[in-house]
Amino acid sequence: MELSARMQLILATSAGIFILSAWLMEEYSQSPFYVLFYILAFVVGGFAKAVEGVLKSWEEKQFNVELLMMIAAIGSAAIGYWGEGAVLILIFAYSGALEMYTLQKSDREIKSLISLQPEEAWLISEDKEFRVNASTLEPGNLIKVKPGERIPADGIVKKGRSFVNESALTGESVPKEIQPSSDVLAGTLNQSGLLEISVTKHMQDSVFQRMIDLVNKAQSEAPPVQRKIEEFEAKYVLFVLLAAALTILVPGSTGFWSYSESLYRACVLLVVASPCALVASTMPALLASLSNAAKQGILFKSGVFLEKLSSVNVIAFDKTGTLTEGNPVVTNAIFLHDSITENEMMPIVYAIEKNSTHPLAKAILAKIKPLLQSSETELTDYEDIPGLGVKATVEGIQWKIGSRELTGISEKQEIKLISDSIKEEEDTGQTVVYVTADDQLASYFLIGDTVRSETVEAIEALQDKQILTLMLTGDSKRGAEIIGKLAKVDEVGYSCMPEDKVNTVQKWKDRQAVVAMIGDGVNDAPALAVADVGVAMGMGSDAAIETADVILVKNDLSKLLYAMNLSERLSKIVKQNIVFSISVILFLLFANYFQFLTLPFGVIGHEGSTILVILNGLRLLR
Ligand code: ADP
Ligand code: MG
Repeated sequence: MELSARMQLILATSAGIFILSAWLMEEYSQSPFYVLFYILAFVVGGFAKAVEGVLKSWEEKQFNVELLMMIAAIGSAAIGYWGEGAVLILIFAYSGALEMYTLQKSDREIKSLISLQPEEAWLISEDKEFRVNASTLEPGNLIKVKPGERIPADGIVKKGRSFVNESALTGESVPKEIQPSSDVLAGTLNQSGLLEISVTKHMQDSVFQRMIDLVNKAQSEAPPVQRKIEEFEAKYVLFVLLAAALTILVPGSTGFWSYSESLYRACVLLVVASPCALVASTMPALLASLSNAAKQGILFKSGVFLEKLSSVNVIAFDKTGTLTEGNPVVTNAIFLHDSITENEMMPIVYAIEKNSTHPLAKAILAKIKPLLQSSETELTDYEDIPGLGVKATVEGIQWKIGSRELTGISEKQEIKLISDSIKEEEDTGQTVVYVTADDQLASYFLIGDTVRSETVEAIEALQDKQILTLMLTGDSKRGAEIIGKLAKVDEVGYSCMPEDKVNTVQKWKDRQAVVAMIGDGVNDAPALAVADVGVAMGMGSDAAIETADVILVKNDLSKLLYAMNLSERLSKIVKQNIVFSISVILFLLFANYFQFLTLPFGVIGHEGSTILVILNGLRLLR
């Protein structure tokens, strides 16, 4: 049974009022009824925690802090310290309410996202508009979104221009300008224009929905530190109960202390030794930082990775779509086959690349689509080879489109082809995509992609943190080195097949480095899985998003830095909390056995430290 934070607060406050009444009666009237009010305070304030403690203890067949606190409170009352027992329960109830508040806060963060997802959409069918349930939209449906409405599905703009506000998903508050062929995401706000959108994904597959599922999952999972603390909790509580028994028996029977002093000290022991603050050291802090991250469009599949991120010392970046914008544009298209003309070739290239989701394929499609005359080309044996390119057969001819490695072009030939088509100063590291027909070079495309504006800043900030930055790309040496230099990464790996990316990540792991890999493509997925922390760009391929541990919903590298800083703050705050709570316990124990700690101060010291620890964790909300 879990009471809401508000209910817990009401109960705790009522307990407080009962305690005050009891205390006033005790002080100013001789009536013995004050005890009744203390009992009421016990019942009302302790109810939630007692039920929770007993249930948890029963389920796990283990002792826990809640139980220990109840014993301590009842023990205090039993030796006549009603007020102290009741205050103990009161503050314990308040700290419970505070913890519940963090949980609900990060829950609300997610719920507020869910409420952003529109339930209905305008479906356009045979030139008429129908109001339909958004969950019934199918890929390929055409929908209309009016100014001021939220976009109900992931899709591609067919008609209209507008500004779209993506802040709910990405934390980016500057609206994005969109036009025909721009991608839009469910849950984002269409600010100004009338849009016609072709739906690309079912509701349950939308970036938005996936984000909600992921954050929900991360929330319900305890990170390793928390699990260790909980394992320790059961043994420790048992130990404290034994120590309390010994404290009653040994000094009493040896005549060192009187029995009443022994009982009193045992009670103080129960109060101050209970590890409430230690148990509250991590979860509130972690939940606070997960909801902070979600607000920035950084999704963790588990809190574990948020914890781990701060220990990363090597980061491998994919090039296309990660360090670069991932909106590559064809700058030069050269057709040089001696028997197949440009007009014959274009529909073939188009038909083949249409099947690929690679950003380079999109660039090529965008270039040749407006020039296309005939359409429909039949192809067979289509194959997408991650890291190399694509191939297919058309009318008995085998076509390959892709890298030098795929098409068998030599490095020397590449240098010549580039110098034939652009001047040296125009070489900004364009990727060359070759097209061969039965292994004879038929065409090549120079495709430029700009380094993201935030890339250099992010890389430099990482280097300041003594993190080694690598770039791993399937592109060939020339383009890779130029982009590597522009992005200022420490090392460049080129012509990487997916397994080469894996091997590089593994090589660094073998050298005891903690490695993060960040990428967007199908070819990055295996390396994302092997890395200690795999980070996917939110607009990347499904394969990358599925395998990654962290998703940057907006392809924004500065968010990686944000996440790392958050992780550092989290680990610092958790360490502070753990050291602080253990020190307070040790100090109070020491004070107890040297007989200069009274029960009221024990209660204040103990509960005060618990509340401080939770408040310290809540700092991570911002
Ligand atoms: P990166 O690792 O930089 O993201 P990829 O490994 O995805 O690059 O691609 C490596 C190379 O494979 C590209 O530079 C390109 O030459 C080729 N390639 C892959 N897919 C395609 C495609 N669909 N069309 C053309 N070329 C492709
Ligand atoms: Mg890529």
